[in-house]
Amino acid sequence: MRDVRDETTELLEKIGVPAAQFNSGDLSVTSPITGEVIAEVHTQGDVDAAVARARDAFLKWRSVPAPRRGEFVRLLGEELRASKAELGRLVTLEAGKVTSEGLGEVQEMIDICDFAVGLSRQLYGLTIASERAGHRMMESWHPAGVVGIISAFNFPVAVWSWNAALALVCGNAVVWKPSEKTPLTALACNAIFERAAKKFGDVPDGLHAVLIGAREIGEKLVDHKDVPVLSATGSTRMGREVGPRLAARFARPILELGGNNAAIVCPTADLDLTLRGVLFSATGTAGQRCTTMRRLFLHDSLYDDFMPKLIAAYSSVPIGDPREEKTLIGPLIDAGSFENMQYALERARSQGGKVHGGERFETGASGAYYARPALAEMPAHEGIVREETFAPILYVMRYSDLDEAIALQNDVGAGLSSSIFTMNMREAEQFLSAAGSDCGIANVNIGTSGAEIGGAFGGEKETGGGRESGSDAWKAYMRRATNTINYSADLPLAQGVTFEV
Ligand code: NAD
Repeated sequence: MRDVRDETTELLEKIGVPAAQFNSGDLSVTSPITGEVIAEVHTQGDVDAAVARARDAFLKWRSVPAPRRGEFVRLLGEELRASKAELGRLVTLEAGKVTSEGLGEVQEMIDICDFAVGLSRQLYGLTIASERAGHRMMESWHPAGVVGIISAFNFPVAVWSWNAALALVCGNAVVWKPSEKTPLTALACNAIFERAAKKFGDVPDGLHAVLIGAREIGEKLVDHKDVPVLSATGSTRMGREVGPRLAARFARPILELGGNNAAIVCPTADLDLTLRGVLFSATGTAGQRCTTMRRLFLHDSLYDDFMPKLIAAYSSVPIGDPREEKTLIGPLIDAGSFENMQYALERARSQGGKVHGGERFETGASGAYYARPALAEMPAHEGIVREETFAPILYVMRYSDLDEAIALQNDVGAGLSSSIFTMNMREAEQFLSAAGSDCGIANVNIGTSGAEIGGAFGGEKETGGGRESGSDAWKAYMRRATNTINYSADLPLAQGVTFEV
């Protein structure tokens, strides 16, 4: 395998990131593959200057017709296509994703650009029947202003694109604070943005900015009076701090926080398909997806048949260097993540859980943290089972009654993703009904992870309530005006009110 630092440098140069941006800076970037330092980037604390420039750019961009803004996002998608291999590889080197997932993340960026281009010729408002003669009512959607984006390490580039592609076609400027663990891929996205801007020709200066740094920079963005919409993706802990601060200044939050996602496996489930679905959702991305399956409710009638198969499948998933073709589980992001995993497994054992796997997987790189995915057979749905640990741990429990299983699946703080595996139409429909899963994502015969961009993405309760990506998520990036136009010579008042002097 090539030296990680050399390859990182080569990729950044190929994408067009100036060397000065990733050499001799004050923030060291490590690759989770080996634990080695692969670059030193410069933190940028001047949030006020970036927001001021973005605000000026917004004042111009908002008057560019939406389909023309869409043309810019089309070019951005083209540039992403051209750099897919390099950016995908950089995601692998910086975030530790296996090759197909690194590339898949960039594909998701391309998909949202395509989606946003279509939207740029829509952004529909309604025409509403007026109760007054000679009047017309309608609603118009206008750009909101500067959109702040705070993102997490585990989707270092896709989350930016979900927000940025929509924000840009909607006529906004973007200021992005990526995770301090993954600044290189952010610098790469910025370089790709600049290439698209050059091709487009008249993108106002400052329309997009990247601010590298830790939470203090995020806090400044959260508190900035000229950022009317802020999209924050990360832990529920982060959302608990960010949410009230945004509320205090009446800014619009788009919060995409933690998940504690569950699947219910019913007696009629296709168990081969279920096994594959569970395996990908629970162990893929080394358990570091917000939608990772973390709890599994197995019906009593199949528990003893399914569990040994799941244990066997777990022990056969290839773990190791994510650059290798055959690897399906790469490293955890850092030592802290491995420690959190071990702490959670300790708690599971102390609660009477029977743990399979979960040990450190040695690759010879002492600064890297690979772990065997863990299954924890739990006697009860309590304690650690009800918390999100951002690592590959799946808590497995028995159930006998579907109502009870649905109640347990809903009985956690988070409300992001959920699944049912069944061939029984009544069970599937009950799970999807108003009395079923309380999550933002509810699937049938598919795992909890691996969403497509066409649907609105996000979750309820402690997941924050935000929606990004498809469906009508674009509305969060615009302000709505209701317009009433009187084309008569009279001035009738609504609700029959009279006001004559
Ligand atoms: P994190 O909360 O530690 O950090 C996320 C981002 O928030 C980082 O950029 C960080 O610098 C910033 N931040 C932290 N505290 C802040 C504060 N007080 N003010 C402003 N910014 C602050 O999360 P992480 O470890 O990078 O990512 C893992 C978490 O993200 C998991 O909980 C996962 O479920 C969640 N996640 C959610 C989604 C979703 O769409 N719901 C997607 C990806 C990840």
